[in-house]
Amino acid sequence: MLRVYADNAATTAMSPAAKAAMLPYFDEVYGNPSSPHSFGQAAAAALQEARETVARCLGAKADEITFTSGGSEADNQAILSAAAAGEKQGKRHMISTAFEHHAVLHTLQKLERQGWEITLLPVHEDGIVRVEEVRDAIRPDTALVTIMYANNEIGTIQPIAEIGAICREKGILFHTDAVQAAGHLHIDVAAQNIDLLSLSGHKFHGPKGAGVLYVRKGALRLQNLIEGGGQERGKRAGTENLPAIVGMAVALDEACKHLDQHTAYVTKLRDRLIDGLSKIPYARLNGSAEHRLPGNVNFSFPGVEGEALLLLLDSMGVAASSGSACTSGSLDPSHVLLAIGLSHEVAHGSLRLSLCHTNTEEEIDHILAVVPQVVQRLRDMSPVWKDMMKKEAV
Ligand SMILES: *Cc1c(COP(=O)(O)O)cnc(C)c1O
Repeated sequence: MLRVYADNAATTAMSPAAKAAMLPYFDEVYGNPSSPHSFGQAAAAALQEARETVARCLGAKADEITFTSGGSEADNQAILSAAAAGEKQGKRHMISTAFEHHAVLHTLQKLERQGWEITLLPVHEDGIVRVEEVRDAIRPDTALVTIMYANNEIGTIQPIAEIGAICREKGILFHTDAVQAAGHLHIDVAAQNIDLLSLSGHKFHGPKGAGVLYVRKGALRLQNLIEGGGQERGKRAGTENLPAIVGMAVALDEACKHLDQHTAYVTKLRDRLIDGLSKIPYARLNGSAEHRLPGNVNFSFPGVEGEALLLLLDSMGVAASSGSACTSGSLDPSHVLLAIGLSHEVAHGSLRLSLCHTNTEEEIDHILAVVPQVVQRLRDMSPVWKDMMKKEAV
C-alpha cells in the first residue's frame, strides 16, 4: 500500500544533504566550540559558518543570529526579553493575535498572570490580521507586537512587511514567529522591518532540536532563559548542538536556493487537492485561498469527527493532522479554527494536509481517492450528521 506523509507542518524528513553535512560533527569535528585548542577552533569555525549562512538566508548579519533548541525556545526568549525591556520603561502591554502557536500564547498568558495586559487581535474569517487593527491597538505602553508570519494550521500568510512598517514608525518592537515561513517564503528581515524572528530547523527538512532567534542589532538586550556559560554571546548558555546547527543551516540554505522551484511545484499539488476535496458535499476550505502557504490544505467536513477521520486515513495510508499536533490528545477544538469563527462542532471535523516538494502527483491521487470515501463512511455512521441533515443545519 502507498503510504503518504502529508503532515509536513508538524515536522519534515531530513534533507539528505543536511544529514550528510551533520555527520562529520559527531566524530570528526567534535571539539567544544568554546575550547581554544585546534579541535575547539575547528568546531567554532563551523558554528560561525552556520551563523553566516542563516544570516544570509534572512537578509540579516551573522551577529544578529542566536541559536536555540527550536522555535518554542526562540518564541519564549523573544517575548520574555521584550517584557524585561518594557518593564524598565514602565510598559506593560503587548499585542498579538488569537491564533498564535502555543509557544507564543502560553508565554503571553504567563505575562498576563504577572499583570501585563495582552491584546489578542481577531484574525477574521479568512485567517488574516488587519493592518489597521494593529495600528489602532498600539498604545503608549505597548512593549511588543508579536504576530506569526504564517499560521501552522490553516497556512494563512500575514501582512508582515506592513505591520513591520507601522511598528518601526511608532518605535515599537516587532517579533514574528516565522517557523512555518522560513525556507518556504522569501524573508528579508531588513526590508520587512522585523526586529525579532523565530525559526525552527525541523520545519524545513533540517534536524529537530535546533532553532534560531534573530535580533536586529540594537533592538533590545536578550534575557537568557538558561543560565550558565558564555555561549551565544552570553545569551544562551549550554554547549552548542553543533551537528544540528550545521544541519539546520545547510537545510535552510538549500530550501532558500530552491524556494521558487519548490513553491511552483507544491502549489500545483496543493491546488489539485483543494479542487478535488472541495467537491465533497459541504466541505469548507479554512483560511484564505490566496494568501496561503504553498503546502497547506485545511478543510472542515461537518458531521465528521476529526480523530476518527485521522485514524481511518492512517489505516488507508494517509498521515495527516486534524489541527495542531501539539493539541491532539486533548478534546478541545483547535483555538485557530475557533478564531476564524468555526463552531466547536465544525472545528472538530477538520483535516490538515501539509505537503512538501517530495510529495508526488501519485500521492495526491491517492489522497483524493481516499478522503471522500472516508468522509462519506463517517457521515453514514454519524447520528450528528443525520441530525444536521434533518435540520438543514449545515
Ligand atoms: C512547530 C512550530 C513551533 C515550535 O517549534 P519547535 O522547534 O518544535 O519548538 C512554533 N511556532 C510555529 C508556528 C510552529 O509551527
